[in-house]
Amino acid sequence: MSAELDELYQSIILDHNRRPRNYRVMDDAHVHADGQNPLCGDQLTIWLKFDGEQISDVSFQGHGCAISKASASLMTATIKGKTRDEAERLFSKFHGVVTGVHPEDAESMGSLKALSGVSRFPLRVKCASLAWHAMHAALAQYATAGEAAPVAPVSTE
Ligand code: ZN
Repeated sequence: MSAELDELYQSIILDHNRRPRNYRVMDDAHVHADGQNPLCGDQLTIWLKFDGEQISDVSFQGHGCAISKASASLMTATIKGKTRDEAERLFSKFHGVVTGVHPEDAESMGSLKALSGVSRFPLRVKCASLAWHAMHAALAQYATAGEAAPVAPVSTE
């Protein structure tokens, strides 16, 4: 990776960490799920609201390192308006990129590409995927219940 690209990616991460998008509690969410990464101390909650199959709104709140927060912010910005299937597919793709299994998929991921560098830092992979695991848990909960009910916290451990 070139130094310029590294810098660009870093500035995207810092920007989303400083000014996280969709950072709020959602009172009328259909589902929410908590995620925690004890190795780093990251903790967050994801809220999802649906219009049929479509994710009409998504938000998060929590605390943790810059990577976990930036990743959550980027995720919310990306999955809003997507269908549940599209969000799940994006999760698989994102996971393949940050774990270094499918680095080639990074090219088609827009701003999420900024997180592709974490594949070089195994401990950071958990930080970057935390919000996604929580989103995945919330989606699964909606599929089963379709109603608001708390789910057990997920851990990236
Ligand atoms: Zn972290």
